Amino acid sequence: MRIMVPVKRVLDYNVKPRVKADGSGVDLSNVKMSMNPFDEIAVEEALRLREAGAASEVVVVSIGEAKAAETLRTALAMGADRAVLITAEGPVEPLGVAKLLAKVAQEEQPGLVILGKQAIDDDNGQTGQMLAGLLGWGQGTFASKVAIEGEAAVVTREVDGGAETVRLALPAIVTTDLRLNEPRYASLPNIMKAKSKPMANKTPADYGVDVTPRLTVTRVEEPGKRQAGVKVADVDELVAKLKALGVTG
Ligand code: AMP
Repeated sequence: MRIMVPVKRVLDYNVKPRVKADGSGVDLSNVKMSMNPFDEIAVEEALRLREAGAASEVVVVSIGEAKAAETLRTALAMGADRAVLITAEGPVEPLGVAKLLAKVAQEEQPGLVILGKQAIDDDNGQTGQMLAGLLGWGQGTFASKVAIEGEAAVVTREVDGGAETVRLALPAIVTTDLRLNEPRYASLPNIMKAKSKPMANKTPADYGVDVTPRLTVTRVEEPGKRQAGVKVADVDELVAKLKALGVTG
């Protein structure tokens, strides 16, 4: 079985985003970019399934500017076998990404596509669900555990107030949550090895997909400044303060 893992190049999670002066978006000039953390978890899970013998090949796919090649190389250095880079001008919205991934999936015929539950730049949390809809495949979103049992994937999902386990006929879509695993670091020899792994270069036109944006960003703003907190000496004082504020149980 082949596993396909879409990975997105995003602002590094340690970097505090700066809003552009004209409010049109987040300033990405000269800031560190990395693989979306949920996608690192997706790559790790695919590698573990391959190492356990449940899969034979891991293919990583990225859509974005040419520098997304670096993100794909990171995935190859972690251990993925092959990469597909789809270079696009400007941002591609989740529907455009899902349409492209659907085309790649039709070509690659994976048994499983593992995506992140969301990309931490736009926090859309839509692509996996849209891809499942376009392909007509089952989906196990927000996965904290994935097991392959014959022709099915058994996925434990993080849901409000607990966990839910679903059984999906393959091929299927999985999106990763934080608790699924802890991704490995790429070792130096593997970083060197990744340089010679195959990476196909494509464009949306190669797949006949129109990725023209359907959404308009009206304005991007910094969140409001937090008010300073107050320390209370004990529970009685806290209760008295809450009562004074009219917050009673
Ligand atoms: P989103 O719906 O944008 O929050 O993204 C959810 C997941 O879809 C990500 O964690 C990735 O696995 C995948 N994805 C989104 N955008 C891209 C992209 N441009 N290239 C590759 N994968 C993507």
